[in-house]
Amino acid sequence: MLRAQMDSSCQALCRSLVSQNENIDISQSVLYTSLMGLLLVADKERELTLGNGQVGLYNTGNTCFLNAIVQCLSHTQGLRDYCLNKTYLQNTCSSRVPELMNEFTKVLEGLWCTDEGKRSVNPDRFYRVFKEALPYFSGYSQQDAHEFLRFLLDRLHTEINRRHPHHTAATPEPSYTRLRISEEAAAMWKRYVDKDDSIIVDLFSGQLRSSLHCSVCSHFSNTFDVFCDLSLPIPKTSDSRTGVTLGECLDLFSHEEKLSKENSPMCETCNRCTETTKSLTIQRFPKILVIHLKRFTALRYSIRKSTVPVSFPLTDLDLGPFGPSDCGAVLYDLYALCDHTGTVSMGHYTAVCQDQDGWCCYNDSCVTQISADQLQSNQAYLLFYRLKNNTASRK
Ligand SMILES: [Zn+2]
Repeated sequence: MLRAQMDSSCQALCRSLVSQNENIDISQSVLYTSLMGLLLVADKERELTLGNGQVGLYNTGNTCFLNAIVQCLSHTQGLRDYCLNKTYLQNTCSSRVPELMNEFTKVLEGLWCTDEGKRSVNPDRFYRVFKEALPYFSGYSQQDAHEFLRFLLDRLHTEINRRHPHHTAATPEPSYTRLRISEEAAAMWKRYVDKDDSIIVDLFSGQLRSSLHCSVCSHFSNTFDVFCDLSLPIPKTSDSRTGVTLGECLDLFSHEEKLSKENSPMCETCNRCTETTKSLTIQRFPKILVIHLKRFTALRYSIRKSTVPVSFPLTDLDLGPFGPSDCGAVLYDLYALCDHTGTVSMGHYTAVCQDQDGWCCYNDSCVTQISADQLQSNQAYLLFYRLKNNTASRK
């Protein structure tokens, strides 16, 4: 609250209190001072006082995948502050109690409490509420951290959506023919946020453009999809020990793909399925970019894990080349990652997160400081990047 605003509302309140209770022996100025003091204290409390966040999470039975993701989200500053400030209580449109959000916030309060003796938090209640909401995650078998991240963010979003659940988008479907790509993309984005709008969308949502090019008539068409993370394929290497770079994964993700007639959608101009090329670009960059490295491939009867090392930049990951042609450099810095060690059936998840002092490894209840050169491995599974402030966020 602005000081001036506070001042004038405080004066008004004092006037009305004093005029309504003329028999009370209290001067307007004394009342003013006390009220103003109270308001200032309340305002100050909103500036969070936090511990260093180096607090672990107990493993309550195969919950390492949950713990690793919670640590990564706990170090996503925009989300953490939104929760700890309880901003969502004023923001939500739903009349239902945001049960999962409340429990998630309690875990964060434990992780960021200023009590220096605090080593670990028990997240059991939060996980129970989560599993009640999503019975799919019940049972204590090894689960996928990426899937959990998606379900968790989706569920939190539903609880704190600023749009009414039954709100129907007023924006009509844009007529594509005469719009420029950027206008078409902006119209599709507006349609999306007319229904789905929350801190989760503010932070994690971006927009992908998929362009199709007909090889017969050269007709171009675009479709736009919202994404909350990018799932990148890992290129094959002749020697799996040499490894690949994140840039090579991004290249493979966005490279032009030839679709046969059988796999192509119908060309609007030819009115039949034709050979088509398809390519993906990032139309709208999210503030928080989560990259999922596709280490797990489903085979017929089993799941295979790739242990190819993927090297990634800690700072200045440039996604500009994968965006619209005129977008320039779009730089991201790493602030958290989730590793998967072991095999498909006997695996373990840990998180590595950055704080003021450097990097810490979060292995359930055990938190240890590590150096930046220990981050690269053949186990990196999810990478959390934040858009640099000096890069303008693009519409
Ligand atoms: Zn065509």
